[in-house]
Amino acid sequence: MDLHSKLQAAWYRLINTYRPGTIELTGSIATQTVGFILPATLYLLIDTLFPEFSKRHKIQSAGRQPTRPQILHCVKVTLFNHVWVVAIHAMLVYWAGLDHAIMNLDPIVPPWREFIVDFVFALLAREILFYYIHRTLHHPRIYAYIHKMHHKYTTPVAFAGEYAHPVEHVIANILPITLPLYLKGAHYLSIIAFVSFELWEAAADHSGYDFLKLPPAELHDLHHEKFRVHYGTIGLMDWIHGTDVVGWDRPETDKRDEQ
Ligand SMILES: [Zn+2]
Ligand SMILES: [Zn+2]
Repeated sequence: MDLHSKLQAAWYRLINTYRPGTIELTGSIATQTVGFILPATLYLLIDTLFPEFSKRHKIQSAGRQPTRPQILHCVKVTLFNHVWVVAIHAMLVYWAGLDHAIMNLDPIVPPWREFIVDFVFALLAREILFYYIHRTLHHPRIYAYIHKMHHKYTTPVAFAGEYAHPVEHVIANILPITLPLYLKGAHYLSIIAFVSFELWEAAADHSGYDFLKLPPAELHDLHHEKFRVHYGTIGLMDWIHGTDVVGWDRPETDKRDEQ
């Protein structure tokens, strides 16, 4: 039996055993645990168990790394954000009724090529949505109220990926990675696969490490260090808008000073 047939058999068993609301809510909790909490914990373990290796591979210098109490605070707020998202999802499931699916729980698992099409579509849609929402959150009139919190860690660690104001967490972190596929009517398994990848990307982007270059952690690390650069995630929208260079918003002479 090939992998797709095994997945089909497991999915068929699942939807014939549990109610749709239970599958969706459990899937959401599992995705956040496996996609973010687990990898973020592993990155944190590298920091604490292998300090020499960590020092060699951190993008920013050892002197700029956050202290242990600062990291603990970051973990606490991030875990709260996960609980907050699960609570919203639980309310939606309760409102819809456990027997009514909010997502597409089609008994037929889509072919691999549909997973790939969904992935590319969601990656581009997320890049566009996140770029403009993130750039708006940097507007001087609103920056202090919402997004300033996420920028507390100028030298980020993996858990800082979801260290954000609860409103920002929903509009900038969760909606851009879930809404486009939901509106497209993508299969629930395709949404789970993409969201797991994106949550890992958020942890890797903020890990502060120079390895595992997919996603490009240096771009978002530089955003935390210099603020007004690299608002997007994969570099596409920053390339289009010219915001991929530190000093893009200042005169040419200042830009040369920076380099
Ligand atoms: Zn920012
Ligand atoms: Zn960030």
